[in-house]
Formats: sequence, C-alpha cells, structure tokens
Amino acid sequence: MTDNTEGPGFLAQASAWLLPALASFRQEFPAHANSSQACRIRWNALLREANLVSLTWSAEYGGRALPTTDLIAFHELCARHGAPQPINSIAHSILAPTLLQFGTDSQKAHFLPGIRQGTEIWCQGYSEPGSGSDLASVRTRGAPAADGWLVNGHKIWTTQAHLARWCFALVRTKPDSVGHRGLSFMLIDMRAPGVRVSPIRQLTGEADYNEVFFDNVAVPAENIVGDVGQGWRIAMAAAEYERGVYFLPRVVQLEHELQRAQALFARAGLVPGERDSYAHRLHEARDRCQVIRWRVEQVIGRVAAGDTPGIDGAILKLLWSETRQMVIELQLELSGERAVIGPEAAGEYAEDASIVREFLWSRAETIVAGTSEIQRNIIAERLLGLPKDKSTHAN
Ligand SMILES: Cc1cc2nc3c(=O)[nH]c(=O)nc-3n(C[C@H](O)[C@H](O)[C@H](O)COP(=O)(O)OP(=O)(O)OC[C@H]3O[C@@H](n4cnc5c(N)ncnc54)[C@H](O)[C@@H]3O)c2cc1C
Repeated sequence: MTDNTEGPGFLAQASAWLLPALASFRQEFPAHANSSQACRIRWNALLREANLVSLTWSAEYGGRALPTTDLIAFHELCARHGAPQPINSIAHSILAPTLLQFGTDSQKAHFLPGIRQGTEIWCQGYSEPGSGSDLASVRTRGAPAADGWLVNGHKIWTTQAHLARWCFALVRTKPDSVGHRGLSFMLIDMRAPGVRVSPIRQLTGEADYNEVFFDNVAVPAENIVGDVGQGWRIAMAAAEYERGVYFLPRVVQLEHELQRAQALFARAGLVPGERDSYAHRLHEARDRCQVIRWRVEQVIGRVAAGDTPGIDGAILKLLWSETRQMVIELQLELSGERAVIGPEAAGEYAEDASIVREFLWSRAETIVAGTSEIQRNIIAERLLGLPKDKSTHAN
C-alpha cells in the first residue's frame, strides 16, 4: 500500500487494501481461527507488509505520522470486518506510545524498529504473586551492578512471555522503599541469562500466560525508561494507553458479537416465554453497546484534541468487559446443545467451539488490565470524588 500522510485519503486506501487482503487471508485462516497464535502472527506480518503498522509514529521512526483519529478509524475498520488482533498489539498499543512519550532518543532508535518490523514481540511484566490489583507492592528487585542492575524476582500472568523478545517490567530499585515510590520501568531482554518462562494453561486449553522468573538478570542502565525510581508515573501513563486505545478495537468488535447473538436468537427454536426473556436480555445488551459507542466517540474526541483517554479508559474497560460477558453468554445459551462442545472442536463444530472458547476467555476480561472492582474504585475516586481507597494502588 502506498504511503499517504495526507490523512483524509488514508481510510479509503486502507479499506481498498483490507477487503481483498482479508478475503484471501480467510482461505488460510477462517474467522473462527481469529484467536489462534498462528493467525495473529500472520495477520501482523500482512499489516507490516502493507505499511499499516506504526501509523501515528513520526517518519523518523518509520511511521506515517497520521493523527491518532486515523489509527482509531483503522482499528474500527479492521474490527468491523472481523480481522484478527495482530500478535504484537501489546507493543504497538502500550509500549510504543509510552516510549515515544518518555523514552530517550537512543531507546526509541533501538527498540521501535523491531516493533515496527514485527521481529520483536513484547510482554508486560507488572503482576506478581500478591501484587496484582495492589501493583505498587511489587517485590521484584533491581540491585545496582557495574553497568546497570541485577534483577531478581517472580512475575505472573505475563501474556506472550513465551514468545517475547523483550519485557517492560516494574522493578523495585530502591531498597526498603514501599508503595509506588522506588519503582523503575525497565526494558528486560528475555534472552538474557537468568530469565525463565513457565507457561500457565488456561480454561480454554491454550497457554498464552506465563510465570517469569528473573534470577540475577543483568539489565543495562540505559534500559530504564524515565528516571530511576519514577517507574510508577510511566506505568500509569502506559495503563491509560492500555485502557483507552488498546481496548478500542475490542469494543468495536463487541457490536459484531451482538449481531451474532441476534442471529442465533432469530434461528433458535424458542418457546414464547423463553423468547421474551432472551429478547429482553438482547435489548439490554444492545442498550449497553449503544452507551459504549457514545463513550468511544467521547474518547476519540479527546484523543483528537491531543488529550489522553483519561477516566473514559476505565469506564470503557468496565462497560466493555461486563457487556461482553453478557453477549457471549447469550451466544452460548442460544447455541443450544452445540454449546456443550469443547473449545478445541474442529470441522463442522469449529464455529460452535469458537463460541465456547470466547465464553471461557471472556471470564478473564473482567480481571485483565485491572479488575472491575478496581475500575469502579478509579471511577468512584476520580470521577465521583469519593474518598480514596487507601488499601491498594490499583494497576
Ligand atoms: C487474561 C489476563 C492477562 C493478563 N496479562 C497480564 C500481563 O501481560 N502482564 C501483567 O503484568 N499482568 C497480567 N495480568 C494480571 C492482571 O493484571 C491481574 O490479574 C489483575 O490486576 C488482578 O490482580 P490479581 O490477579 O493479583 O488479583 P487480586 O489483586 O488478588 O484481586 C483478587 C480480588 O480482590 C479484588 N480486589 C483487590 N483489591 C481490591 C480493592 N482495593 N477494592 C475492591 N476489590 C479489590 C479484585 O477485584 C479481585 O476480585 C493478566 C490477567 C489476565 C486475567
């Protein structure tokens, strides 16, 4: 796809590329395979070949310098046509904007090309056993060493660590510090001696999450983003990207998932009482999707004005994850007996299996990136001005 930094023509060009590209991609990977690793890796490669990654980065770093609104519109276009999530979305949507905002020139020059080219997958090393919602209680430690730091600790739930070349992690670099003071935002080489990754099998049968152990891992001084001890500020900015822009494509996808539930409703053989009850639940889901859509418009407006998603990120994350559970539950129930099929069934049951997989997967969505309770705390404190919850520092 040719380069166009003019903005208005971009979406038309992207649409012209997307439809035939997706049609031929579907011969290799049908829609129900969207969540598979192989499918997400291949889609990432196709986007890169078409110069449809790094849209908002400056030309200096190989980007196209398009406005964030074009990026969001592109995400929306992809979601509308049911495209998969590219494999490295953690790097593109969370780490890259964080580096562009806080990284040094040499960090940007060193790390951004691998993200753009799709050769370096990243993972996020925040959570630890005992430090999830209360992220500020991180115990992984960095001790000063000759050219940087020696890191020791144990991370958990680290998505894609088994594929990742790099990890951005929160590490306590000030001994005896407590809470969010004394944490640093480090870029850790996952191939360095002393890094061990152990997969965690999920309800779906897949193993995308891992425990990561750091045993005297050497991290050069130049791999700290921002100042030593200022990692909390950087992680919180990254969390805003995560809850805002990172989740937007998923939010748009929800409208299509609702349509699928409506189609299943239309063909399910329901008796009248059942029909009314499902119709009522579908109406409720549709109303929630409408509210989410209005919120998305608000976020897009804020981002277009040069602001961050702010509190809307927390609101969207909460509404989306809970509504998605509602919609996928409806899909599952309306599938009838086909819903008892396992998430890995293939052949004529592949589509039903994908509903079961999404049902199981959706249970995690009210936990990842801050649980629903934590989002409610954030909204209560920042939007409603209620007294602060002093027991945790939510991530
Ligand atoms: C699918 C998935 C992918 C993930 N990927 C990553 C990743 O790549 N990198 C990473 O670092 N982490 C990742 N996580 C971890 C995730 O960030 C944590 O699971 C999450 O922050 C919750 O922490 P926890 O599991 O320790 O639960 P806890 O914090 O122990 O919470 C347990 C329960 O207590 C509630 N609770 C806790 N504190 C409060 C409070 N103050 N007020 C009210 N209720 C409270 C919670 O809402 C929850 O219901 C992932 C998680 C999932 C499910």
